[in-house]
Amino acid sequence: MPPIPEHIIDRIRDSVNIVDVIGRYVTLKKRGRNYVGLCPFHTEKTPSFTVNAEKQIFHCFGCGTGGNVYTFLMRHDNLSFVEAVRRLADETGIKIPVSRETRRKEGENEQLFKANQIALNFFRQRLQQSPRVQQYLQQRGITRKTIEHFKLGFAPDEWDGLLKHIRRFGYSEKPYEKVGLFTTSEKSGNLYDRFRNRLIFPIFNTSGKVVGFGGRTLSDDPQTPKYINSPESPIYHKGRVLYGLNFAAEAIREAGLVIVVEGYMDLLQLHQQGVGNVVATSGTALTEDHARLIRRYTRRVVLCYDADNAGIQAAARGGEVLFQHLLETQVLILPPGEDPDSFVKQHGGDAFRKLVTQAQDYLTFRLDLLERAHDLQQAAERSRAIQEVLDLLLPVPDSVQVNFYLEKVAERWQLPIAMLLNEFKKKHRARRQRQRYGEAPPPPPEAAPKAPAGDAPLMFSGAWGAEKDVILLLLNAHDQVREQVYDLLGEEDFRNPEFRELFRLIGALEVPDAPHLLHA
Ligand SMILES: [Zn+2]
Repeated sequence: MPPIPEHIIDRIRDSVNIVDVIGRYVTLKKRGRNYVGLCPFHTEKTPSFTVNAEKQIFHCFGCGTGGNVYTFLMRHDNLSFVEAVRRLADETGIKIPVSRETRRKEGENEQLFKANQIALNFFRQRLQQSPRVQQYLQQRGITRKTIEHFKLGFAPDEWDGLLKHIRRFGYSEKPYEKVGLFTTSEKSGNLYDRFRNRLIFPIFNTSGKVVGFGGRTLSDDPQTPKYINSPESPIYHKGRVLYGLNFAAEAIREAGLVIVVEGYMDLLQLHQQGVGNVVATSGTALTEDHARLIRRYTRRVVLCYDADNAGIQAAARGGEVLFQHLLETQVLILPPGEDPDSFVKQHGGDAFRKLVTQAQDYLTFRLDLLERAHDLQQAAERSRAIQEVLDLLLPVPDSVQVNFYLEKVAERWQLPIAMLLNEFKKKHRARRQRQRYGEAPPPPPEAAPKAPAGDAPLMFSGAWGAEKDVILLLLNAHDQVREQVYDLLGEEDFRNPEFRELFRLIGALEVPDAPHLLHA
């Protein structure tokens, strides 16, 4: 999207009050000059999330998140910067000039959505005309109502079923090609249908538009892949879409929990049995973007995968991403030989819901796996298992949670907590250094970053104000805030040499071994 003019961005920001905007999501109480509340970006019991009306900024002393009203909306609702600006523009009624380029791109995407919609109508019509496929669905226990609700379709067993349909109406083939409904034959260079002899599951985005399709083969040929999906396109990014989310949003909010399954059929069957708070990964690995997407609806996730090795590995990998993004992640491994589809068909929705309440928290699940993979009586194996746990916890951006987990590990494996904390701190420092300097070793202390020559005077840069605020805060704050600040910042973070020195001095004043990260 094109840049929105600076002055418009500023005008929109100035015409809203950050306290009002954040107040819609967080219960804020006035305290002194600030407003405080429970941070929406990490779990906490005592409020460390602060909103400053005067400066129109927010900051959390627990997890370090902070910024202006745009930053808040971006983080909280998983928006891009431009989307956040647009959201507030709508509210304030301030018009954002639209460039020709934007209009062109939006128009192009509309074409792609329209192509998918026309294809969907075609697939649905063909399902209605095919007793064979209807019978298949009936055998799988899928009702007519479910077929309608999820708008299932059928791609006929022809090379050019959809293609002929498009041509008959004189539509351009281009957008269909672009969303991957057609592919080009390498031999002849001709177009042909990607989905043939397949049951079609349309994939919708959260606004209910068709972004792509999943297709399950109806052929017995073992050479044919069981499932294929639309390829990535300007309107379909696999890492950002979860199948069924558009249907499940309400139920997820109501239940305060989302269940993630692997297959389309699992989801359909669960839905039919009254378990509506379900989404399916449909063969895609869970990503950071998925974690953010889920967080718009709930913080609690239960992964429900098959009991086979592939399912367990998928739960371990997918769960890790969610866990590290502060979602309360649990894992439910079904009895051997069962999948959600078969289980719920046999035992019903209530039995399944009951099973969900017995899901294991993710860390316990991982520790179980590690215990199975390593003989903890052997020193080398034990060390490897510990390193693996530490690597899992390293990216978790909430030191309170990390501390809690480390204590759990220490207790379960009967390790001295001090040793675990030490190992963790070592790894954490190394990671921070890697992030800051890449793989190269850190520069010697005397070469600590200074403002490059010719740069704007520090006084006028945002950094100067921010650094000053930190120092003022440290001088006035009570010990707990001080600890949090030293957990988050190091001397290296200061550009202004005077402030850096002050930071070091204050740190040395009362907390002799600062900066430290965790407290046993
Ligand atoms: Zn926070």
